[in-house]
Amino acid sequence: MRAGRRPHRLPRPGGARVSAKPVLAVVGRPNVGKSMLVNRIIGRREAVVQDVPGVTRDRVSYDARWNGREFVIVDTGGWASDAQGMAQRIAEQAELAIAAADAVLFVVDASVGVTDEDEAVVRVLRRTNKPIVLAVNKVDDARAEPEVAAMWQLGLGEPWPVSALHGRGSGDLLDAVLAALPEAPAEQFDEPGGPRRVAIVGKPNVGKSSLLNKLARQQRAVVDNVAGTTVDPVDELVTVGGSVYRFIDTAGLRRRVREASGHEYYASLRTQGAIERAEVCVVVIDASEPIADQDLKILSMVEEAGKALVIAFNKWDLTDDERRRYLAREVERDVQAFAWAPQVNMSALTGRNVDKLRNAIEEALAGWETRVTTGQLNAFLGRVAAAHPHPVRGGKQPRVLFGTQAQNCPPTFVLFTTGPLDPQYVRFVERRLREEFGFRGTPVLVDFRAREKRRK
Ligand code: GDP
Repeated sequence: MRAGRRPHRLPRPGGARVSAKPVLAVVGRPNVGKSMLVNRIIGRREAVVQDVPGVTRDRVSYDARWNGREFVIVDTGGWASDAQGMAQRIAEQAELAIAAADAVLFVVDASVGVTDEDEAVVRVLRRTNKPIVLAVNKVDDARAEPEVAAMWQLGLGEPWPVSALHGRGSGDLLDAVLAALPEAPAEQFDEPGGPRRVAIVGKPNVGKSSLLNKLARQQRAVVDNVAGTTVDPVDELVTVGGSVYRFIDTAGLRRRVREASGHEYYASLRTQGAIERAEVCVVVIDASEPIADQDLKILSMVEEAGKALVIAFNKWDLTDDERRRYLAREVERDVQAFAWAPQVNMSALTGRNVDKLRNAIEEALAGWETRVTTGQLNAFLGRVAAAHPHPVRGGKQPRVLFGTQAQNCPPTFVLFTTGPLDPQYVRFVERRLREEFGFRGTPVLVDFRAREKRRK
């Protein structure tokens, strides 16, 4: 079941088409103090996690801010410390982090020095051209400084001594992190009109790879011919119905993830990373099986990330009349909250309706980009308030003075009011906005600012 609360996020500054914040991935073997360091950076307690084998965490990314700049931290902890093939596993973790991030924070432990596992990460890190920041943790006092100097030998640039425990050095480290992160993620450097970024996500075995193969078999785009693209090796450009799309993290779909402890964790990390980088997500659900919590969770992830959404009910060829009746009921019961998303009943195996996906993707992107003029919006808000005024609360009746669309992608509205609005009223306004303006395939965020009381 989907959590009842919907996020009321504040609009990001900067107006139209603000692209996602830059992403920093934190990499290191267990017990070097990654989680504590992440906590230091985000200034909160919530990231406290242990490197427990096979643990699947809901959240792997956290919002962070330093010196007025915002970025996202992806914590790549959570792999098995007792596993065989440890070095291999760590190398994979580093690869994943590199794929998902704009810069990598690599954490080593001054009290232990460089281990074989660290070396495995270093080998992977050396191959990338993404910026690396090297943090040497557990430098609680000046006595550990010689250990720090020794870390130059890793060939990853200047080692930054920190104590996640005491906070020592974390300011300098964060400055180095900010210097390494791009102002905005790489995607933003694509020329306007470059390929739209699509992520195919969903739980294992629903047919994501099959769908990608089907699409790609129809036509693979020639990379050189597409203007303004530096294609990440994990992405693929595919022509669908005459337009080129950039499919995100297809390497993850093509390389079958090995069955291993922590494998679910990798899947969720990948899913989250792909969603963050995409503009529109195609969430693939296996129509032949009951809708699972995991399906709903992935739908929520897309909504919470503020991305356009298309729901693909795959394996339609395996459904009979009875199953379809059940599915309709499940959709009615569990997927209502996403009724705004276009749905396509398809089969990656037979190719049924695969071509309809393109229209659905375009429809969702159009909804996502919709801008409503302030005039239209306020005429609408006036009608809504006249027909359905806010209920009286504590003898007062909050009024909406005016509203504005703070940004699109996804459409985000701010209502200026005389007092706080009930969450139900905010949801009501959102529903009415959808009825009025459509917004097919996109989350819509509605926020309000209550007028400050004048001081006498
Ligand atoms: P992924 O883990 O989501 O990438 O799923 P795969 O693409 O690997 O598919 C999992 C299994 O389902 C494979 O055996 C596919 O052949 C099969 N499959 C995928 N799509 C369909 C479909 O539309 N119909 C049927 N009958 N089988 C499918």
